[in-house]
Amino acid sequence: MVGGGTDPRHIVFEGIDGSGKMTQSKLLSEALGRAGAHASVYSYPDYKSEYGRIILEDFLYGKRKFLVEELLMLYLADISKDKQRVLGDLAGGNTVIMDRYFLSTVAYQTSGGFDYDSAREVVGQLELPVPNVIFYIDVQPELSFERKNKQKSNNPDKFEKDKLYLNKVRGIYERMMSDKYPEGSRWVKIDGRKGIDEIHQIVVKELGL
Ligand code: ADP
Repeated sequence: MVGGGTDPRHIVFEGIDGSGKMTQSKLLSEALGRAGAHASVYSYPDYKSEYGRIILEDFLYGKRKFLVEELLMLYLADISKDKQRVLGDLAGGNTVIMDRYFLSTVAYQTSGGFDYDSAREVVGQLELPVPNVIFYIDVQPELSFERKNKQKSNNPDKFEKDKLYLNKVRGIYERMMSDKYPEGSRWVKIDGRKGIDEIHQIVVKELGL
């Protein structure tokens, strides 16, 4: 049982912006709550942390340029800071739900030029808890923009550039999935064009709730 003391679960939602990760994390957490199980929800980047603040204010707002190596380390530091807390949650029988995890770091930083195998090697050294299930919600960049960033798509040049990058990110998600990375995780790919409730039902069924 999810959230049970004997079978704690660690569930991750992955996908590009606007795929519905936060929506599904919330719905799953609520469903678990109704079933009497406690879920801890983590969301990355964690904008409340020092690392998250640098990611948001300096990188995402474009205050300065970052090397891909810096980004890899920043995003991984943000995730690693919670390692003991996550392990504690799992050991205590809680379900852990994550909106993005190190799979995002590998997908985005590899797309930004970092070597795929090297990224996996760096992550491997951190010995982070390995999730049981990774729900990969796949959407095309067009839909991602439509849902999240309508104003940005007004700039066709920027959109074309981002589209190229996001399609690379999707390619790395596919690669990790076919590589069955990380060992011990089960990937479930979901067509993100489906409705919110339809996706939630797939999640619930996959988890045997
Ligand atoms: P993410 O966390 O992946 O960036 P969100 O969960 O924040 O995505 O969703 C982005 C926007 O898209 C929100 O306005 C949300 O209500 C909407 N949305 C999420 N999933 C779906 C879906 N399956 N169909 C239509 N709209 C969706």
